[in-house]
Amino acid sequence: MPMNFFPPPNVVGAILATLILWFLEMRFAYWPLPSNRLTHARNNFMLGICSLLLLGAAAGVSVTVSIFAREQGWGVLNWLRLPLFFETIAGALLYDLGNYWIHRSQHLVPALWRLHRAHHTDRYIDVSSAFRFHPLESLYRGVCFIALVFVAGISIYSILLYAVLASVALPLSHANLNIPTSWESWCRYGLVLPLHHRIHHSMKRAEYARNYGIVFLWWDLLFGTYLDPGTVTDLKTGLDYTTEKQSTELAALFREPFVSPTASAPFEDSR
Ligand SMILES: [Zn+2]
Ligand SMILES: [Zn+2]
Repeated sequence: MPMNFFPPPNVVGAILATLILWFLEMRFAYWPLPSNRLTHARNNFMLGICSLLLLGAAAGVSVTVSIFAREQGWGVLNWLRLPLFFETIAGALLYDLGNYWIHRSQHLVPALWRLHRAHHTDRYIDVSSAFRFHPLESLYRGVCFIALVFVAGISIYSILLYAVLASVALPLSHANLNIPTSWESWCRYGLVLPLHHRIHHSMKRAEYARNYGIVFLWWDLLFGTYLDPGTVTDLKTGLDYTTEKQSTELAALFREPFVSPTASAPFEDSR
């Protein structure tokens, strides 16, 4: 019996966005392309595949939880009973707001920072860095997403909408693209662009505790963590207390949560 296989739209979105951005980087790069570009990308994708499997499982549980919460009338949006269109938009925005705080919590709590650190040891930020998340970090994020769907009463339509938005926004925000800072004034109320997110990967304490947004920048503007890219000069990415090996080797990426850094971790309160 023939089987119909349709990959989820967020998987298609992520593959297409990554491929397009990979080739755009070759023409409009912000930083010179490194000689180990392919190896760097391969390692980031290998780490990402493990993470995406966990996040995919979490998404499956989230859908079940969403349907159950809807049937029981539990969760904020299920109490409000908005028209479907507005409920879908509100759910996706709440998901992004939750994602902002999940990310920020990883810069506030030392144990969570350990899980997130592999993402920040990357010294060369490009589209593949969007997939550089340790599986333990993805496990933490997946559990948070399930709780968020339950508490906020986020519908399956919102989950799908947000998954598609994030599948394009994450590769875009990490792409090594030279977007003029003059664009900042009109794009600050839209998607997170590379010129915003690369600041979050800075080695400087005054810069890495900024621009946490995943899809939209609004939350950084709202909670006072936005930093205008026009004010940043001499940007260096990565963590100054990690070695080249920690930045590039696949085994080192998997070990990252279990090694002790030689200097203090970049928590917000250490600014
Ligand atoms: Zn971060
Ligand atoms: Zn990042």
